[in-house]
Amino acid sequence: MVFRPVALLGSWRRDRGGIVTLALGVYTLIFLLWMVAGWGGETRRTAISDLAFLPSGLAAALMALRASRHVLSIRSRRAWVLLTAAFLSWWVGDVVWTYYELVLGEAPFPSIADAGYLLFYLLVLAGLITFPIAPQSRIERSKFWLDAITVLLGGWMVIWYFVLGPTAVEQDSAALLTVLSAAYPIGDLVLIFGIAAILLRTGEEGHRGTLGLLAAGAVSFLIADVAFGYLSLQESYSGGDWPDAFWMVAQLLFVAGAQYQSWQASREEVRDPDQVIEIHPLSPIPFAAVALGYVMLIVAGHSAPIYPLGGLITGAIAVTAVVVARQLMLMNENVRLLGDLRSLVRSDGLTGLATRRYFFELAYREFSRARRYNRPLAALMVDIDHFKPINDQFGHGAGDDVLRMVAAQIREGLREADLAGRYGGEEVVVLLPETPEEAAVAAAERLRRRVAQASVDTAGHRISVTISLGVASADGCADLGGMLRHADNALYRAKEAGRNCVRRYGQDNKK
Ligand code: GH3
Ligand code: MG
Ligand code: MG
Repeated sequence: MVFRPVALLGSWRRDRGGIVTLALGVYTLIFLLWMVAGWGGETRRTAISDLAFLPSGLAAALMALRASRHVLSIRSRRAWVLLTAAFLSWWVGDVVWTYYELVLGEAPFPSIADAGYLLFYLLVLAGLITFPIAPQSRIERSKFWLDAITVLLGGWMVIWYFVLGPTAVEQDSAALLTVLSAAYPIGDLVLIFGIAAILLRTGEEGHRGTLGLLAAGAVSFLIADVAFGYLSLQESYSGGDWPDAFWMVAQLLFVAGAQYQSWQASREEVRDPDQVIEIHPLSPIPFAAVALGYVMLIVAGHSAPIYPLGGLITGAIAVTAVVVARQLMLMNENVRLLGDLRSLVRSDGLTGLATRRYFFELAYREFSRARRYNRPLAALMVDIDHFKPINDQFGHGAGDDVLRMVAAQIREGLREADLAGRYGGEEVVVLLPETPEEAAVAAAERLRRRVAQASVDTAGHRISVTISLGVASADGCADLGGMLRHADNALYRAKEAGRNCVRRYGQDNKK
């Protein structure tokens, strides 16, 4: 499903959750303007930013709760309940913190607020990994874990450099304090894992837009968190500084994610149950994590002497870049080969029609869809008349040219949604979705006329052929095979009736 923000915002105007989301968008904009403009002066700055988070945090929790009531599957409901608890927990932390700062006039660390904040990370991870994902093969699962570990290691390097490392080195504080200040960066790693869990796996149909918004929110939250940790260590953070912008945007994205979920759930019935699962062969995220790790190495080591560390860092970066480039090249080649292989399996080399195998793959799905939704469906069986003599007279090359011409006429005479496959040597099978028998007979007649009027210049001759067609509808057929047998039977009647004509199943039997 395509994500169309403008159309979406239009439809959200008519929905209570949508209005909350749009209002929070405006609220966030005002907050950002306030931060840039610096209204209220230094003294009121902290108070204003503390208070500003209370409505948005509560909105996130309530919207998540609302989403949990809208979603259909047990798993996604559980995920939203966990996210509700996570946002609520963060909000309680904010309330307590605001109380300390504004009423008591002091901000103790650690405090009950920290309990609320820290619980958030665990609950949010639990929520994010609970969302239903598309089925994974064993190799996909292994790949996910390797990618997730790569992302975690990249994140670890950033957090280690900016927050965790400096905290670990600073050993003069009390033990509990050290543990607690390390708890936040570790919480960030937990959050990174949650983000990886949704970005590196394919969400179940109907969850992808939501998961994208939640991941974006979590990334924004993470940026705020790491920046806050870094600035706090420098003792240069105060309420209303730039990390607050990322927290606010994060809450807006969480709310938008919840709204998107509710909105999707309300239109669940248009979902196509037979959606083919897309395979994402290569995620750029682990590569970005590797690059991030090296960026940290450059940041930390740029002033190192060229011997030995400077040279070694440069060498390590170069060697990694070359190996990654090689792997990417190889991977691209594989993806290309896979594409070639797929088209070989799917399209017949001589005629360009679907292969028998691919035809059946699609036709089974079409048949069961028609059956489930009680839609009309018809099939044509086509055979070239007196084709063997053409081979005998003009040679197999000429025969092939005629076959190609007939296939082209059939393909061009059909609609986009129709499916033509090469059934056997010079037999073509056609599936006509959404087509009642009458219309199928008309289509068959159209094809017959097209072929009869066409010709092909080959082997020094202008050769024309005719085709015979049998028509059958899915009505009264237990399965696809039954319908095709009916069409074949009708084709046999057409041959019997003198060729270059159309017969439908049952037509002549009744006579
Ligand atoms: P009818 O009107 O009864 O269908 O007569 P026909 O000669 O067409 O009989 P049939 O349908 O049994 O013909 C099958 C012939 O089609 C046999 C073979 O010579 C030819 N044929 C099958 N596949 C190919 C192919 O890929 N290329 C060529 N050149 N000929 C093929
Ligand atoms: Mg034939
Ligand atoms: Mg034949």
